[in-house]
Amino acid sequence: MKNKISKYDFLIVGGGLIGSLTALSLHKRKLKVLVIDDKSEIKSDQRTLAVNANSKEFLLQLGIWDDIKTKPQLIKKIIIKDYINSLPLIFKNDKEIMGNVIYNAELHKIILQKLKILKILKLNVKINIDSLKPNTPIEINSKNYSFKKIILSIGKKIISESKQKKIVFNNGDFSYVGFFQHKICHNSTAYEIFNKEGPLAVLPSPSSNSNKSTFIFSTNKNTSFIKIKALINKHFYISHGQMSFDKELYKFPVIPHLTKFNKNFIFIGDTLKSIHPVAGQGWNLGVKDIQTLHKLIDQHKFEGEIFNYIYYSRRVVESFAYLGFTSLINMLYENQNNVNSKLIKLGYQGLQNISALRKLFIKQAMGKLNLID
Ligand SMILES: Cc1cc2nc3c(=O)[nH]c(=O)nc-3n(C[C@H](O)[C@H](O)[C@H](O)COP(=O)(O)OP(=O)(O)OC[C@H]3O[C@@H](n4cnc5c(N)ncnc54)[C@H](O)[C@@H]3O)c2cc1C
Repeated sequence: MKNKISKYDFLIVGGGLIGSLTALSLHKRKLKVLVIDDKSEIKSDQRTLAVNANSKEFLLQLGIWDDIKTKPQLIKKIIIKDYINSLPLIFKNDKEIMGNVIYNAELHKIILQKLKILKILKLNVKINIDSLKPNTPIEINSKNYSFKKIILSIGKKIISESKQKKIVFNNGDFSYVGFFQHKICHNSTAYEIFNKEGPLAVLPSPSSNSNKSTFIFSTNKNTSFIKIKALINKHFYISHGQMSFDKELYKFPVIPHLTKFNKNFIFIGDTLKSIHPVAGQGWNLGVKDIQTLHKLIDQHKFEGEIFNYIYYSRRVVESFAYLGFTSLINMLYENQNNVNSKLIKLGYQGLQNISALRKLFIKQAMGKLNLID
């Protein structure tokens, strides 16, 4: 009895927003899944998630979207400004809502609750990731298991014990997140302002009314809450009116990276790639990882070793494109010189004047642009 091995299709290491969602979606298609997390309690941070149209559709299909109780705020328009060009870039899609802003923690709680009811989540499991191999017995909480596939979804931290090889674009940025109430309603508009100090995003925040917003300010320079408030006041007093800030300011490290292929693992979410939050697309790209996984399970035998390679080659192109693009934008704005200003002006004017480029931008913001199918 002691040597009995429980056979599963998938082990998912990491019950974060992407690992837990992957588990739920695989379970829904009747695959046998176990999720482990090394924390005794999974706590989500206090920030919002801009869910694009593609990801919302995915959450709807999984029956999760309607469980969200705090009213999501719509994104109908995106305005981009910078310190180089005089006119803003304005993107809107009159036919469809571009995105919804929800709370990270609320979505995560809903998914984890479902996993607990299904009894497929084990917490406080410390495991040596290097020793994990598909179809090889693994002991978890004194029980033996064997998994056909191992999905690593442990977020963006670079763990020393693992042999994961990564390309890292870390330039020492941190993101600072907070919330504020304002007198004038936000008009379902999301903003990205490229300042000399770093990019500042202001988005409608989930709330019963339209007078609450959240900000994400990223910088590699020393900053303070006072400086961030002054920056927000400078840019948003006219559009948002008088503001009152929540007292908490949350700080997150930004570690853009791409993980190289490893035949033993399927990398998903921030473990595969993490991008600068300037694009607000990290989690949305994680959803695309899950969607690709499902598509490939439909088309191929997932048990085979080649499956991991096919999955990786499908996801690496888009991951690298986003990583490269967001890192390039930041590099250009952070290093102020004539050549960089000219390059920025060129891109900006292209987006202002070429409607095909603008349509492409809107499509990618909505998660509807597929670089590889
Ligand atoms: C400020 C900020 C704002 C953002 N805003 C947006 C946005 O608006 N839209 C968007 O799409 N994306 C956004 N993102 C990105 C998004 O938050 C992430 O892409 C997403 O949360 C990643 O989820 P994940 O499950 O891959 O990783 P994580 O949430 O980091 O989960 C990793 C899990 O793995 C567990 N774990 C770690 N190590 C081990 C181990 N050794 N064994 C077992 N378990 C382990 C951890 O406990 C954790 O539960 C933002 C990011 C930041 C920093």
